[in-house]
Formats: sequence, C-alpha cells, structure tokens
Amino acid sequence: MNQDKEAKLNVFIREGSSISSRRQASCGSTMEASHDDLHDIPPNARLTITLNMTSHPCGAARTSIASTAGSDRLTATALPPVIAIAGLAIETSSFSPQRTSDQSQFHPYRGVDICDSKYASFLGSDTKLRQKADWRGALIGHALPGGVVTRELFDTLTSEICSRLLEIALDAKRQGREIEGLWFDIHGAMVVDGLKDSEFLLLDRIRKVIGNEVLVSASMDLHGNVSSDLAKSCDLLTCYRTAPHIDTKETKERACWNLLELVNRRRNEGKKFSRPFKAWVPVPVLLPGEQTSTRDEPAKRLYEAVPEIERLDGVTDASIWVGYAWADEPRNHAAIVVTGYDQDAVTRGAEKLAKLFWDVHKEFHFVAKTGTYKECIDTALRSRKSQRPYFISDSGDNPTAGGSGDVTWGLTRLLERDEFEDQNGPTVIYASIPGPEAVHAAVKAGVGAMITLTAGAEVDNLHAGPITMTGRIHAIKHGDKYAKIEVVLQVGSVYAILTEQRKPYHLEKDFTDLDLKPRNADIVIVKIGYLEPELYDMAKDWMLALTPGGVDQDLERLGHHRIRRPMWPFDKKFEEEPDLRARIIAAPGEPSTVHDE
Ligand SMILES: [Zn+2]
Repeated sequence: MNQDKEAKLNVFIREGSSISSRRQASCGSTMEASHDDLHDIPPNARLTITLNMTSHPCGAARTSIASTAGSDRLTATALPPVIAIAGLAIETSSFSPQRTSDQSQFHPYRGVDICDSKYASFLGSDTKLRQKADWRGALIGHALPGGVVTRELFDTLTSEICSRLLEIALDAKRQGREIEGLWFDIHGAMVVDGLKDSEFLLLDRIRKVIGNEVLVSASMDLHGNVSSDLAKSCDLLTCYRTAPHIDTKETKERACWNLLELVNRRRNEGKKFSRPFKAWVPVPVLLPGEQTSTRDEPAKRLYEAVPEIERLDGVTDASIWVGYAWADEPRNHAAIVVTGYDQDAVTRGAEKLAKLFWDVHKEFHFVAKTGTYKECIDTALRSRKSQRPYFISDSGDNPTAGGSGDVTWGLTRLLERDEFEDQNGPTVIYASIPGPEAVHAAVKAGVGAMITLTAGAEVDNLHAGPITMTGRIHAIKHGDKYAKIEVVLQVGSVYAILTEQRKPYHLEKDFTDLDLKPRNADIVIVKIGYLEPELYDMAKDWMLALTPGGVDQDLERLGHHRIRRPMWPFDKKFEEEPDLRARIIAAPGEPSTVHDE
C-alpha cells in the first residue's frame, strides 16, 4: 500500500531522560524523517516530529524514543486511532402487547459493513472521517419501533457485541495498539423485559470488555432518554435537533468528529489529559413527539437555542432530549446535556436550555388539529375539493413510535361507514394492516380477483379483533425491505393496504408503487403521528385522530406509574418549582456524584 502523506507525532519527553531516537516504519524498514534535533529538547518539552512518509511501503510509521537507561521506553505511534462502533437502536412501547424477539428485526450490520455499507456516506472509504481513524465495526442494529425487547434477544445481541469488541481489542493489541474510542450508536428508548435503563446496561457490559479508559461518544434520537447513569458511562452525548428527524446523518457524524477530536486531545496531552465536563439537567416534562415537533412552536425556538449554546467557548456539544412517552421508567423525561472543557460554560449552557424548556412547557400542543376518529372522518368528508387529499393520522397504532401496527380498530370503524360502501364513493387509502396469511392468499388469487380476507390483531387485539373484508385485489408487490409482500384490497371505495410484515408508510413512492395515487385520493389515512415530510407536502389538509393503541396520544389514560413525579402533563400543579440546576456527572469509572433514579 503506497500512501503519500505526512504523519505528525506528538511525543511527551519524560523528565530526566536523555534521548536517542530510532525511526522505523511498522513494516520494519527504516525511513527518512525530518525533525528537530532530539538531543536539544529539554525535559518535559512537548515535541512534534514530522515523518515524511511519501511512498513508504506500509503507509504508516512508528517512532520510538528510548531513554539511555533502555528500560524506560516511550513509544509513540503515528497510526490512526482505533475507534470501535457498536450499539442497538429501537423505540419500544411498554404499552403494546407486542414483543421484539427476533434478531432480524434489528437488521444488524457487522464489521466493515457498518462503515462501507450502512454509514458509507460519512464513514465510507473515501470520506474524511474514515481517513482520520481506524474505524472498527462490532455490531449495530436499528429496529423499527415496536414492543419490548425480550431478555433473550437483548442478551444474545449484547454478547455478540461484547465478543466482537473483545476481538477488536485483541487484534489492536497484537499490533501494539488499543481501542481509543467507541462510537455508541443508539436511540435511547429501548425497553428490555425485566430490565431498567437498557442502553446504560448495554454500555456497562461493553465497558467491562473495553474498560473505562476508552472514550465513548453516544449519538441518540431526541426521543431517547438520558439517565444520569448513561451520562456517566459516556464521555460525550448528542442527539438530533429536528423532529421529524432530518439531521440523523449530521448528528451521527457530529458524534464521530467530536469523539475523534477528544481521542486526539488525549494523544496530545498525554498524562495531563482530563475528560470533558458533562452538565446534565432532568426536566420534569414527558410529552409525545406529536406535541414537540421542531417545525412548530415552542419546540422550534427551544431547539434554535441549541447552536447558540454550542458556540460558547469551552462547549463541545449541547443537546435537548424530549424523552420517550410510551415507556414507564424513572428515566422517561426530558433532559439536557451540555459537554465541554469549561465547567462554567457547560453549567450555564445546560441551565439556560433547561430554563427555556420549563418556561414553555405549558405551550406544547398537538402539531395538527386533533379529534376523535369519527370527528376526523366527518371533517374530511365535509372538506372542500381544495382541501384534498385530506390526511388523517391513525396515531394510536403508529408503528414508527412503537405501536404494533396491527391494530384493526381504525380500518374496522372506517369500513362500517355507509359513505364508502359503493366503489364510486369518496376514495380512501388506508395504510396499513399486517396479515401474512391474507397476503399469501391474495398472491395465490392474483390481481383482479374478488376475495374474502382476514387480517390484523394477531399481536394487539386489545381494541378490536381480526378484520374480515371482501373486495377486489387492486395490486400486489413483492420485495419491500419491511413489508416483504404488499397487497392492496379494494373494498367499496376504500383501498386497504395489507402487508406480510408491518411497515411504515412515509413516502409517496410507498403508495405509487402499489398503483395508488394519493394526490388524487379524497382521504388518506396513515398509521403515523406527525406527517413525515413527503406526506406533509402531499396533504392539503390534515387531522390527527386520537385513536387507541400502544402509542395512544392521550398519555394520561395509559397509566404510567414508575415515572418520576411530579411530571408535566401528568401533574398540572407543581408544589415547588423544579430543580433545574445542572448536575456535573462524574467520569466513567469514578464514583457517582448524582443519585437520581
Ligand atoms: Zn425520534
């Protein structure tokens, strides 16, 4: 491998050492190096050696600085730092009877595929980040939101992550190196059967393998939760700054760059290195995403304050977590974390964001007009032509928030209405209901066939049982990543989408691929909360229906009993103003300074 580049080494010379230098490339051959005369360097000086590595066969170099005593050897290496990647991301409603039990639901990526495939856009071979570090993927998994993860699956995936990290650590050791950083790629709202604070437990198990010295940078969803334990186990934490999330790549990239900077800082500072300060403030607010979209006030101006804090001298990152409303643990609440090297600045920054959050907590409201399902359909039917397609969010069973996706309540109520009985009635598209048997039967019958099918309520039958419909098969599509097979059944003037496995419908293409024309429909009903950007653009009008399901938007009727109290909006009256002072969280491996949960 020939590479044209220079390697800069920062070497700390120990007091009392007289110095001789030997330069050797890691392939074993000697090489030309230009640097200051090492004999003139005073003790304790910091020294930068520039090695000219033009066309060197191994493309990497190692320089040894040896003391005259021979035994007191310092070795610095020009090899880029080894940074491992691991994490599990899922949003799990503990109010859904569904369970996440199969590894394939996490769509795991392992080893080099993490950089070369999953994150090729910023960690692929020709990217700047890739060239600055030796990124080693262990395992990452991103699941569709769903029900609680089984203990068995969590243990299986965690064990694989740990054994892969051990392998990475041993491999680095064989090269005279070590893991210097870990990018912890998580969501922050995973619930595991019988466990509390799952992402902290995952990192805790990881730390038992890689140790407390490795610098860890976590990237998260703003709908994740940050307990003080999780904050303690990490060195840096950040999350999205938009909802709907249009900055996922930017956020992950920021987590990686900040980690790289931290790793290099430690290389440069040697023993003088200290870890960044982490200021954490829990905010006693727990709201659904549908009231906290950053497209609307007050979340818009709240999140606009984040970059201002991040720009302060001595601040590395500032982030606001809205938290996840459909799980019931003490960590489920909003939180602020500001990290950096100026304790005063991170403290002030975190407190400012927390105060801003609390100041507006009563202003949060649903991002669309809301109503019962019946009110929404009635309103859509009364709407003018210019208001169509009229979108309705069947929000209680939103699979991208953690609903099972197979609640039949919405479709059942829809097909009970007279207005849609005739095929010339108002066109309605309904997305969607999983029903593997129904889908297989439809595939056998083929497009155009009249058929009676039963689907849904295999997982969540709390609100309605399986639905039986007779209609004409309008379209069949094979090969979708999530749905596998999709079938459209036309019943009267309703086009119901049935899937082999559950799938979120977020893109116009999701519909047009099924020979549906959402822009020409009168009503489009989607199991979703706030509309994703493409749907939002298509909708001429929109209502959010407060329907039942695992992610019911009416939080207070769900029956949380383990969250901290008082908590807005569960408690309308706070006897005392909440304590919004920043807690400085201890570094990994140090005794806790904050005991909150
Ligand atoms: Zn989210």
